[in-house]
Amino acid sequence: MSLLVSMDEWSEVMVLGSGCAGLTAAIYLARAGLAPLVLAGAQPGGQLTTTAEVENFPGFPDGIGGYELMERLRRQAERFGARFVGDAAEELSLSGEKKIVRGARSFGCRALIIATGSSHRPIGVPGEREYFGGKGVSVCATCDGAFYRNGTVAVVGGGDVAVEEALFLSRFCQRVYLVHRRGTLRATKILADRLAATPKILPLWHRIVEGIEGNGQRVTAIALRHLESGERSVLPCSGVFLAIGRIPNTDFAEKVLACDADGYLIGLENNPVATAVPGIFIAGDCVDRTYRQAIVAAGTGAQAAIAAERWLASQV
Ligand SMILES: Cc1cc2nc3c(=O)[nH]c(=O)nc-3n(C[C@H](O)[C@H](O)[C@H](O)COP(=O)(O)OP(=O)(O)OC[C@H]3O[C@@H](n4cnc5c(N)ncnc54)[C@H](O)[C@@H]3O)c2cc1C
Repeated sequence: MSLLVSMDEWSEVMVLGSGCAGLTAAIYLARAGLAPLVLAGAQPGGQLTTTAEVENFPGFPDGIGGYELMERLRRQAERFGARFVGDAAEELSLSGEKKIVRGARSFGCRALIIATGSSHRPIGVPGEREYFGGKGVSVCATCDGAFYRNGTVAVVGGGDVAVEEALFLSRFCQRVYLVHRRGTLRATKILADRLAATPKILPLWHRIVEGIEGNGQRVTAIALRHLESGERSVLPCSGVFLAIGRIPNTDFAEKVLACDADGYLIGLENNPVATAVPGIFIAGDCVDRTYRQAIVAAGTGAQAAIAAERWLASQV
């Protein structure tokens, strides 16, 4: 029995997401003559559009603005025939070999690349949004640490990522505070030992951030509360690195694809950009909980596109 599926638009190949992974995949697919349809999602250009300066993307010795870099990738994909739609996937389903993506409209395709990235887990305090991205609130020490050379910064969190961020920042900064709600770290012992052996890092136990303060332009301090004594304090600093976790944007795909406990998509062991569903490929930060860098996302986007192109060729 054939299943009737209503869809507004059919494409041979679609890409979900317009960050580094999605746009790189689109460039490769478009150059292969496949005219991919890209669903840009709620954040066209992805996470990098929220950072003023990118200094570690190869090919830009003087750095490049995050927004400009993503705009260039989009133009490059469009030049070869990629098409963009301002919609976001709300549900993914399968109808035989067809992949059906429902957002505000419905889309169908034969091959699909999911590159929907991840969102930082907010701490939800006043000032967080106001000073996010180039104004003192960051979610990436590898990306932004160098802007805080000789400065005083705070890292919020107590897991592996928070400790790694603090250790990385201690190379640049004169003082790094680690603000953690518990009295011990959740991080692995080796990282915890390294932290304990780094005098520049000072843990502030049993404390939570209640607010991020600034002068309208940049962060100047954070407001803290001690969870046991209730004592409130203000800690002057020029940067706050949030490391309480990221949330992969994969809700819409969880019924169809394998995800780990935190929602990251899982690829095949012998080909991490392929999934158990033939014709669905995955790339970027919605898969990668470890590296989370633009060049890595772009690299896996290229891999996913090549894999999709080969899969499509094998179907005729
Ligand atoms: C402030 C900041 C600064 C950074 N600086 C650097 C840096 O200097 N160097 C570096 O290498 N890395 C940096 N990074 C990390 C880098 O931005 C990410 O590793 C990279 O953007 C990941 O690319 P991605 O395409 O996988 O995901 P993202 O950039 O997260 O893009 C995801 C895309 O998917 C779309 N989307 C989400 N949900 C859906 C949906 N349901 N349907 C359709 N589309 C959807 C979004 O709109 C977005 O376009 C920084 C990150 C941040 C937050």
